Amino acid sequence: MSKESIYKRYIPAVTPKCASNIPAYWFIFNDAKLLINPKNDLKLPFTNSLKEFSIIPIREHYLGTLDGHDCYVAEVKPETSALEGMAFEDLKLLYDVLDEDIFLLAGRAIQIINWDKNHQFCGKCGTPTEKWEYDNAKKCPNCGHMSFPCLSPAVITAIVKDGKLLMAKHSYGLKDRYSLIAGFVEPGETVEEAVERETQEEVGINVKNFKYFGSQSWPFPHSLMLGFTAEYESGEIKVDGEEILDAKWFAPEEIPPPPSKISIGSELIEWFIEKFSD
Ligand SMILES: [Zn+2]
Repeated sequence: MSKESIYKRYIPAVTPKCASNIPAYWFIFNDAKLLINPKNDLKLPFTNSLKEFSIIPIREHYLGTLDGHDCYVAEVKPETSALEGMAFEDLKLLYDVLDEDIFLLAGRAIQIINWDKNHQFCGKCGTPTEKWEYDNAKKCPNCGHMSFPCLSPAVITAIVKDGKLLMAKHSYGLKDRYSLIAGFVEPGETVEEAVERETQEEVGINVKNFKYFGSQSWPFPHSLMLGFTAEYESGEIKVDGEEILDAKWFAPEEIPPPPSKISIGSELIEWFIEKFSD
């Protein structure tokens, strides 16, 4: 799987090169909803000042340049209503609406806002933190403790046996939907060990020959998904009935269509269907 990188259009930075009054792209979030202007090419508000929109942000950050234009992220109060002709839309539902690289940049933007919001105070001594000028980081003026935006790596695996794909029904999320085996990488383990452990824990089987498939930033709330393909090695499917309600092997024609193509899970399923259909 290869994806266009957002970094072909986007150059990250933490402070603008020059203070100017030229228009910039704004990622404006009301909780997890992004302000969309359907009239603009990129669907993002484009203005030289939020004052022009009569918006007073709770917090804002410079993001760098996009197609040579400055861009910013801001968070607004929950009671803020969208400007005329614009709308606040749930970021998760915007995958098919925004250019893919704008969607990815919006994912970066909301993670920076959430990190800022959740690191107002030092985790070690409780002193209010200060923004560090050289990077996306916060420094405690009392004890010097630094905090950075955190990422939680997770693995997701397409496991194949005799031309069938293993899918499981989880007790969280949509209960009637089968999806791939997935879970967070734990401290101290490699991603390969996480694939083996999650598969053993969730469905009681062992896998072999796993291969890296690709990765995806998943900003809900701050994951990095690492996709793998693997072959069944040994064991019988066994589920706990609590976290995993059921698991079974699906032939390509038995797999229900995914609700959206947003996730790397859907791409792994597409890979399987393409490779194992007659
Ligand atoms: Zn401190």
